[in-house]
Amino acid sequence: HMPTAELQALDAAHHMHPFSANTELGREGVRVITRAKGVWLTDSEGEEILDGMAGLWCVNIGYGREELAEVAARQMRELPYYNTFFKTTHVPVIALAQKLAELAPGDLNHVFFSSGGSDANDTNIRLVRTYWQNKGQPDRNVIISRKNAYHGSSVGSSSLGGMAGMHAQGGIIPNIHHINQPNWWAEGGDMTPAEFGLARARELEEAILELGQDRVAAFIAEPVQGAGGVIVAPDTYWPEIQRICDKFGILLIADEVICGFGRTGNWFGSQTLGIRPHIMTVAKGMSSGYVPIGASIICDEVAEVIGMEEFNHGYTYSGHPVAAAVALENLRILEEEKIIDHVRDVAAPYLKQKWESLLVHPLVGEAKIVGMMGSIALTPDKGTRAKFAAEAGTVGYICRERCFKNNVIMRHVGDRMIISPPLVITPAEIDEMFVRIHKSLDEAHAEILE
Ligand code: PLP
Repeated sequence: HMPTAELQALDAAHHMHPFSANTELGREGVRVITRAKGVWLTDSEGEEILDGMAGLWCVNIGYGREELAEVAARQMRELPYYNTFFKTTHVPVIALAQKLAELAPGDLNHVFFSSGGSDANDTNIRLVRTYWQNKGQPDRNVIISRKNAYHGSSVGSSSLGGMAGMHAQGGIIPNIHHINQPNWWAEGGDMTPAEFGLARARELEEAILELGQDRVAAFIAEPVQGAGGVIVAPDTYWPEIQRICDKFGILLIADEVICGFGRTGNWFGSQTLGIRPHIMTVAKGMSSGYVPIGASIICDEVAEVIGMEEFNHGYTYSGHPVAAAVALENLRILEEEKIIDHVRDVAAPYLKQKWESLLVHPLVGEAKIVGMMGSIALTPDKGTRAKFAAEAGTVGYICRERCFKNNVIMRHVGDRMIISPPLVITPAEIDEMFVRIHKSLDEAHAEILE
């Protein structure tokens, strides 16, 4: 390798980083990741970093699995590319679609492939609008989503998302309506979590009545809001959302891009949260991030209605054979090595116990966790759920930077800190992660008090 400083200089000169300030300050301290194995990353200085985020919530089976590299190489030699646009198909895409249909709950039996989660959600926008069009209700084209949701970065998927900063850079497409998120810690006021969960769910009903039942096509949500800060809804929320979707006959889209493939302790977050979606968005953990691939998994009735006409949609890499073969191998490993059982029986209970023990720390007001995705709220006063006087995110950023220096990757969203480690993490590795997290929080606390 070139020396780190040279790599950093070239990176700064030519590479624009996503979701980053590409300024001198924003680029300061950029680390060059060179290798990874299991839950560990190695940088160009030889530092070993514990990845508490599984990359971007995606490396579910951990890094460095040779089997995936071998499958990719074999598939590249045999059939590196072919499309399925017209009357052609191939074995990897058939096998993966069949496997996803087998794993997905209910009658979610039909798969439309993409290269990731953003373009799968773009597919969903066209799918649900075409569904109602084909049923003779073309005005039924409004999709309801939630503030602070993340559904991707394309203009369509970020319109579904509720990130104000993204809307401010490029605007949003028409006929998307956002309701509030079920974030009790930040927005619950004097209500109990149960009351608040119901109130926030009923905003869906209010929105449907306001917009007109004959205008609303679908509701989209993540079972557990991830990039918004791992916002776990109160228990009353999802049953009420499901009741409302059933009552008004609107399509329910579960964005499982983070929650899918074991993250919540079941194959899909919908199973953990008791949701019955018509469409699921999947990506990330489907290939453990080894190759880019995403999909919409669609129920029988929606697929049948879409199939009435030509569906004018598709990506060059829809069902890419190499991506499909690697994803299939990843699913084989998840299944044969019983990694979701490991989550349920070993990793998640242990992580929950450690995570909730953070509540004794003076900075931590709330600790939420579902399976292998958790968040803590940082606060100057636990009793009143107060926010820091500094600009929102400042304290979160300080904690994140301390973690980074102490070689554990955690992410911050405003003043919440997040973890989402590879599902294969062992109790000993969780112990090591918490040594580093405690050290980082203590250092951040001291810095804030200075
Ligand atoms: N949906 C959710 C819930 C996500 O968390 C993400 C990415 O983080 C996406 C969609 C977008 O997926 P991608 O980055 O693969 O386009």
